[in-house]
Amino acid sequence: MTRVSGGCHCGNFSVELQLTRAPDSYSPRACDCDFCRKHGAAYVSDPVGALHIRIADPAHAGRYRQGSGQAEMLLCRRCGVLLGALFTDGGRCCATVNAQVLDPAVRLGAATVVSPKSLSAGEKAARWPNIWFANVSIASPDA
Ligand SMILES: [Zn+2]
Repeated sequence: MTRVSGGCHCGNFSVELQLTRAPDSYSPRACDCDFCRKHGAAYVSDPVGALHIRIADPAHAGRYRQGSGQAEMLLCRRCGVLLGALFTDGGRCCATVNAQVLDPAVRLGAATVVSPKSLSAGEKAARWPNIWFANVSIASPDA
C-alpha cells in the first residue's frame, strides 16, 4: 500500500490516497468533457484502495453537477481548485481524485484520454463503482 497525499491550493481540502500498486502504474484519466478540459483535470482512483478527504471549512466546499448530473464535482470555493468527483448510488459513495491536486513529487503514469460523455447514464453508474475508490471517507467539522 502506497500513501499519497495532496490537496487544494489554499489548504481547505486535503486528501490521502491509499494505492495498492506503484504510483507510476496508474494512468490518470483525462476526461474530454468541457468541464474537465477547462480544469485540465485527469483522474486517478483505485477500487481496492482507499480515499480520505478532509475539509477544513465546509462553507468553502463547492459541489457542482454538470454533464448527466450524476456525479458531484468537489471544488474549493476559496482557491477554485477541482479536487475530484463523488458519485452516490443506493447510499454507497465512490469517488475519484483529480491527479493535479497530488503532491508534485508523486509520479503517476502518463495520462490517457477518456470520454465518459459518450456513455449513457446507466453505463456511467455501472462503470464508476468499478474503477473509482469505493472506500471513501470525508471528514469535516460538521460531519
Ligand atoms: Zn482551496
